[in-house]
Amino acid sequence: MHLARRGKRVMVLDRFGVAHDHGSSHGITRIIRLAYFEHPSYVPLLRRAFELWRDLEVDAGEPLLHVTGSIDAGPADSRTFAGSLHSCETHELAHQVLESAALSLRFPGFQLPASYLGVFQPDGGFLVPERCITAHIALARAAGADVRAHEGAIDWEAEPGGSVTVETDLGTYEADQLVFACGAWAGQLVPALGGLLVPERQVLGWFDIADRDAFAPARFPVFNLDFDGEHWYGFPEFGVPGFKIGCYHHRRERVDPETFDRAHVGRADISLLRSCVETCFPAANGDVLMTKTCLFTNTPDEDFIIDRLPAAPQVLIVSPCSGHGFKFASVIGEIVADLVTTGATRHDISRHRLSRFPGLRGL
Ligand SMILES: Cc1cc2nc3c(=O)[nH]c(=O)nc-3n(C[C@H](O)[C@H](O)[C@H](O)COP(=O)(O)OP(=O)(O)OC[C@H]3O[C@@H](n4cnc5c(N)ncnc54)[C@H](O)[C@@H]3O)c2cc1C
Repeated sequence: MHLARRGKRVMVLDRFGVAHDHGSSHGITRIIRLAYFEHPSYVPLLRRAFELWRDLEVDAGEPLLHVTGSIDAGPADSRTFAGSLHSCETHELAHQVLESAALSLRFPGFQLPASYLGVFQPDGGFLVPERCITAHIALARAAGADVRAHEGAIDWEAEPGGSVTVETDLGTYEADQLVFACGAWAGQLVPALGGLLVPERQVLGWFDIADRDAFAPARFPVFNLDFDGEHWYGFPEFGVPGFKIGCYHHRRERVDPETFDRAHVGRADISLLRSCVETCFPAANGDVLMTKTCLFTNTPDEDFIIDRLPAAPQVLIVSPCSGHGFKFASVIGEIVADLVTTGATRHDISRHRLSRFPGLRGL
């Protein structure tokens, strides 16, 4: 969308349809938060991401970002609580630190262990990913992009110092530049990255709620939580019945995106998710109403890759986002358009460069 709006001739290829459920971007909601426990350097990108999501809402004429506030909780020395507080202090973000009892009083759905602390940041909330993707695609088309769904790239070749050729199951195309934003399949299309990127199975569960008022968006902020050696995230009830929760890295199952069984969710998956629900969100410890599987694509340090391939600088790789990238999609679009049209961007993407992996061969 950003590239097409800058007057470039843009072709979009996706091997599946628009907003499908085979990759990493489905499941009704995605958290967006400013208090970034991962690292304070993400906060300026997030500020711009928020602005661009709001612009997209205006252009698309529909709500895409729902503000609930965000909670980042855990023991005082946990990465989630301490990292979030550090980001708030570094960037002077509005926030409050709440002890567990105060947190439950204000947000009764939360019943965290007594010693836990939470950072409440009022700007956090969630995006509706399928609608965000559809809006971007519709506006890209309106700006002249040629969007081809159900057409997958099979092979590509970059002429040294020249153009790039992409072969699909339906044809061969030539372009000045090529952007790979192909998530879990990035290692297939750029084999040199194959050993670096780990596609990982994730499972989301929606649990029936006894006290639905306590889990309504107005009373239940999105959260990240360190509990029992795992890292959890969840949402108020929205779109479908139930309290939605997930566990980062779930059961640490490395999978092949071509062959993994997307439909299967078993007892071990549910009991892992329930182990957090029953202690920390007991008013939502009901039947499982819905599940979905999804894919993370992890880099070793869990930062992103937004860079040109050294051996083929006409080719950019912009997606493997290690399970926390959706909220950045708006600003990553702007960054890609900057890089393609001017060769540089005002955004600080130094954390996401390929050069941090000096051992990589064949790029
Ligand atoms: C369960 C789960 C929960 C998450 N929660 C959050 C959250 O709360 N907040 C957040 O910010 N992030 C979250 N994330 C992470 C975020 O959703 C991902 O980082 C992001 O969606 C990745 O987007 P992507 O474009 O890289 O991948 P995808 O959305 O998978 O897109 C890749 C696209 O490439 C296409 N493709 C692949 N190969 C080819 C080919 N050969 N030819 C043509 N097209 C091809 C695919 O069809 C696909 O459409 C979560 C992820 C999961 C799985």
